[in-house]
Amino acid sequence: MSENTTMDAINGTLVLRHGREKPVLNRHPWVFSGAISRIEGDPQPGDLVIVADSKGKALATAYYNARSQIRARILSWDPAEAIDTTFWRALLARAIQGRQLLDLPPQTTAYRLVNAESDGLPGLVVDQYDDYLVVQCLTLGIDRRKEMIVDLLQELRAPVGIYERSDVDVRQKEGLPQTSGTLRGQEPPAELVILENKLSFLVDVRQGHKTGFYLDQRDNRAAIGQPEFLSDRDVLNLFAYTGAFGVYAAEYGARRITNVDSSAAALEVAERNSALNGFERPDDQYIAGDAFEVLRYYREEGEQFDLVILDPPKFAHTQGGIDRATRGYKDLNWLALRLLRPGGLLATFSCSGLVSADLFQKVVFGAAVDAGRDVQVVRHLGQAADHPILLTFPESAYLKGLLCRVW
Ligand code: SAH
Repeated sequence: MSENTTMDAINGTLVLRHGREKPVLNRHPWVFSGAISRIEGDPQPGDLVIVADSKGKALATAYYNARSQIRARILSWDPAEAIDTTFWRALLARAIQGRQLLDLPPQTTAYRLVNAESDGLPGLVVDQYDDYLVVQCLTLGIDRRKEMIVDLLQELRAPVGIYERSDVDVRQKEGLPQTSGTLRGQEPPAELVILENKLSFLVDVRQGHKTGFYLDQRDNRAAIGQPEFLSDRDVLNLFAYTGAFGVYAAEYGARRITNVDSSAAALEVAERNSALNGFERPDDQYIAGDAFEVLRYYREEGEQFDLVILDPPKFAHTQGGIDRATRGYKDLNWLALRLLRPGGLLATFSCSGLVSADLFQKVVFGAAVDAGRDVQVVRHLGQAADHPILLTFPESAYLKGLLCRVW
């Protein structure tokens, strides 16, 4: 307890500039350096601070880091609330309880338990994979409280093991090194088998992308996973990673599936994921290469498809990179549209938070006009429900997609 008491001490006040209080009053959890007029006291990295308006009235409690442009992340909008173990336990329990209320699909054993800011826990991601938890500490404020948080997770979920995947670039902005390893219990095996909508997938939580699997695409895989979209259809699954969309395509009767990814290692797992689900599909293809080049090659060859899936990595990393990213998305969608048979489907995604759903739709519109195709949006797609979007934190809406019928 003594450790917690020290940790919970408030060590300063960030006084906001006049006219810069609005985001805090509107419950946006980030305090940028430019919004601060002065700092009272001498808060150390990770310490708790009060955020006050320009007249000195306390508005919120946050954790502080002078190394980051986001100087503080708000934990409570009640400055009188104690930030102690009870506080953290209640927030973690609320996040976990929220997942139970979601009615996640049956026969699904991997999902996000804690989605950082969106769950009131800035900088903390926790994913459940079968009996294991995988934790990402994205900020110094969370990193410093890691032991307490992991103890609480052990208490609340009793997992077989808790593994850390804090090997992410954003930690650099917080002045933190990358780190990963077992925090509690058993080390997860090199390959875990998880279920998603009753289909099986091999997941390497120690080294795979993100925390091992693109959990955020679950609902979109289910949306596409219908016989009327897939039965006897030729599918081109671009940016396939370990082939999750392809496995759904096989389950719902696709004729031929072509998986493309720049990572040969990911495709090797994709092939094993297909076999793991009992499919024998000698005609399916696994192509290690650049998706843009593969699309151009198929155009030259006159190859056509009934469903093309475009799930590229994040193209826009900074505000200044948005134009370049939109050109990339447009090019990609234009190339894909030209390969679709009339009446075929395009499932196209962007996981760039900086590219809004509106902008993305405009980009696909531009690609459709240039390709000379009629494109109907039949469904708007987004991140799965266990990756909730906090209304006061629009940055949490990052994954958007369109399911289109193409004539
Ligand atoms: N659709 C996948 C997730 C895709 S993540 C799923 O449902 O699990 C993006 C993938 O794109 C990564 O696997 C990465 O290896 C791959 N990638 C990145 N650049 C690429 C490129 N230029 N061509 C093909 N694949 C690429």
